[in-house]
Amino acid sequence: MAANKKLLMLPGDGIGPEVMAEVNRVIGWMDKRRHVSFDVQEDLVGGAAYEVHKSSLADETLEKAMAVDAVMLGAVGGPQWDNVARDARPEAGLLKLRKEMDLFANLRPATCMPALAEASSLKEDVVSGLDIMIVRELTAGTYFGEPKGKDTYKGQERVIDTTSYTHDEIERVVRAAFELAQKRSKKLHSVEKANVMEVGVFWRQIATEVAADYPDVELHHMYADNCAMQLVRWPKQFDVIVTDNLFGDILSDCAAMCTGSLGMLPSASLGAADESGRRRAMYEPVHGSAPDIAGEQKANPLATILSYAMCLRYSFDMGDDADLIEKACANVLDAGFRTGDIMTEGATLVSTEDMGQKVCDELDKLAA
Ligand code: NAD
Repeated sequence: MAANKKLLMLPGDGIGPEVMAEVNRVIGWMDKRRHVSFDVQEDLVGGAAYEVHKSSLADETLEKAMAVDAVMLGAVGGPQWDNVARDARPEAGLLKLRKEMDLFANLRPATCMPALAEASSLKEDVVSGLDIMIVRELTAGTYFGEPKGKDTYKGQERVIDTTSYTHDEIERVVRAAFELAQKRSKKLHSVEKANVMEVGVFWRQIATEVAADYPDVELHHMYADNCAMQLVRWPKQFDVIVTDNLFGDILSDCAAMCTGSLGMLPSASLGAADESGRRRAMYEPVHGSAPDIAGEQKANPLATILSYAMCLRYSFDMGDDADLIEKACANVLDAGFRTGDIMTEGATLVSTEDMGQKVCDELDKLAA
């Protein structure tokens, strides 16, 4: 079958190449067993790119990222680049990719596989089977608003951050969240601080207007501080949550930690759809490059494999294959296999490669 699905793999630094190798193993499985071929290119990003180009994102790499259907990224960064000029630092390459690709909707699922429920700091019945999705606005709001910086006010030093949103910046992310809610349980929480912030009042107004186009989705408004409380009290009351950049940063970490380890958390960042319905997209694990365990085959590859499952679901409309991969990951955990980060008493410790192979073995069984 011709490979019309174009993927750019950017393994990056630290454990990035190790976890990405396991995605390649799953892609190999898909090719062989499901006859789904991808046109896969690979390139450098982050510190690895800096070593070659003196830039953490070469122009040719960015061009490739703009041309493909989806980008899979491992992780960037490491102490060896701490003293590099700010605009050439590994993180700068990642931020540039997100900005140039205009990836405004960051999808962060928080799912708790039953086998890992006991690893959560919350009670098992509160998190077991949890499956929520936080949609965070990623390219505007407090982290980008102007004016920003330091000045002098009434004879004192003063610092300023500005939270600013245009109508369209809110509308497009809210719409993306409604569309997602339609494909899930048709319930959406829109989260802001309309009680004390103008941005919150505007956000609520737009969410209410957009809701008219999605009559099948139940819309709830919630203040961000209440949402934080509810997430640790009874997270299963939520399905999809949409919120701004700053609140999303905090609430998605909070929701994620209900579920256990960083090594289990995937993410997707989506841009606007073009005329053909294709959205620019990048998929990456939430964790960083973990320099403390890099090169030792200790990294958990499941966050990256689950990010690939998100890629199949959102970029290629291959929900059945995404389900299969997610089920295979859950079965491997049910069977008691663990990397060091999620190790528990009585479980079997496996390496990064072993974990990737176990997922493929499980896929073999599921597809039989
Ligand atoms: P980190 O996520 O890399 O590591 C935090 C801790 O979690 C470490 O102890 C690490 O060993 C462990 N860990 C992370 N991922 C794991 C996995 N898959 N399996 C097993 N254990 C895992 O965060 P950090 O230590 O704060 O940052 C390290 C570097 O990564 C820094 O240079 C930072 O800038 C960068 N970083 C990059 C990204 C990204 O690429 N998106 C995100 C966060 C941090």
